[in-house]
Amino acid sequence: MPLSEFALIDRYFRNCGVKRADVRLGVGDDAALLDSPAGCDLVAAIDTLVDGVHFPHGCPAASVGHRVLAVNLSDLAAMGARPAWALLALTLPNTDEAWLSEFAAGFSDLARAHDVALVGGDTTSGPLCATVQVLGHVPRAQALLRSGAQPGDLLFVSGTPGDAAAGLAVEQGRLTASEDAVSYLRKRFLYPSPRMALGKCLRGFASACIDVSDGLLGDAGKLAHASGCGVELGYRDLSLSEALVETVGDARARELALTGGDDYELCFTVHPDNVGKLRHELPPERWGYSLIGKIRATPGAIVTDGGNVMDFSHSGYDHFGT
Ligand code: ADP
Ligand code: MG
Repeated sequence: MPLSEFALIDRYFRNCGVKRADVRLGVGDDAALLDSPAGCDLVAAIDTLVDGVHFPHGCPAASVGHRVLAVNLSDLAAMGARPAWALLALTLPNTDEAWLSEFAAGFSDLARAHDVALVGGDTTSGPLCATVQVLGHVPRAQALLRSGAQPGDLLFVSGTPGDAAAGLAVEQGRLTASEDAVSYLRKRFLYPSPRMALGKCLRGFASACIDVSDGLLGDAGKLAHASGCGVELGYRDLSLSEALVETVGDARARELALTGGDDYELCFTVHPDNVGKLRHELPPERWGYSLIGKIRATPGAIVTDGGNVMDFSHSGYDHFGT
């Protein structure tokens, strides 16, 4: 007999993530009651993953559970915020318990890693789709915004962008790679690590910040645009994973790093006067970020190689197009 909606919620979502003292009332009533700390701004973000659009049909359930939370946590990281609570709206084509149990485990493992409590949601029947809203906090008026960059600020990115786009292509059978590269790249797409600690530590250093979800070049461009500026990225300055270069070659790796999606890294700007302190307090080798460009007064996002402006105006969508 299929699970009733009540039994499903009770079994998989009542004790998902951590228990937090600031949850006065969690899953079970008409709404949750939450206790927000004084002196903080409440930070809210929401994101939806649609089957076949934001993840390939047949994607592991644990990955869907992980990613739907990760993409939201990444938005909070980009604000320099600390996450606290999540709400989950889940539309399911059926009550496949093996799928649900994996989905809930994927969600819960990441929630536990970042001290997040699942405090409510909605469960409906229909084509597979998951929406998560995350709520968190940042000390009042200290959030990192997209709009604070100024010409001359240096531009940094965490991690090795491009991996996730290649991982998706591997997952979809559009790209082949060595066994080690397959396992690394798939993981980078299926289980992204939101950069919570970095985001929090960038408060006080970064003049602006954005998370990289739609491709580094486009997202750096959004940050620059929000700041009323432009941005220049150094083609040779991108930091690439060995697995990516080994799999697709140097040129395509750089193209993927600039235009591939789903990285969930942080792209941020720092005033030149603060870069010494940044490097001292957050050593790049330890924190895994690198200098990739700078903010300029002229609007637009450009990529340069040895003084020449390169053309990345074509769509980055179908990198392995058939
Ligand atoms: P209502 O009809 O009043 O909205 P529901 O029956 O939809 O209530 O939900 C009952 C309780 O279960 C609520 O507290 C709701 O927040 C919670 N809930 C429903 N679906 C989920 C879910 N997928 N994850 C977490 N909590 C959920
Ligand atoms: Mg109700």
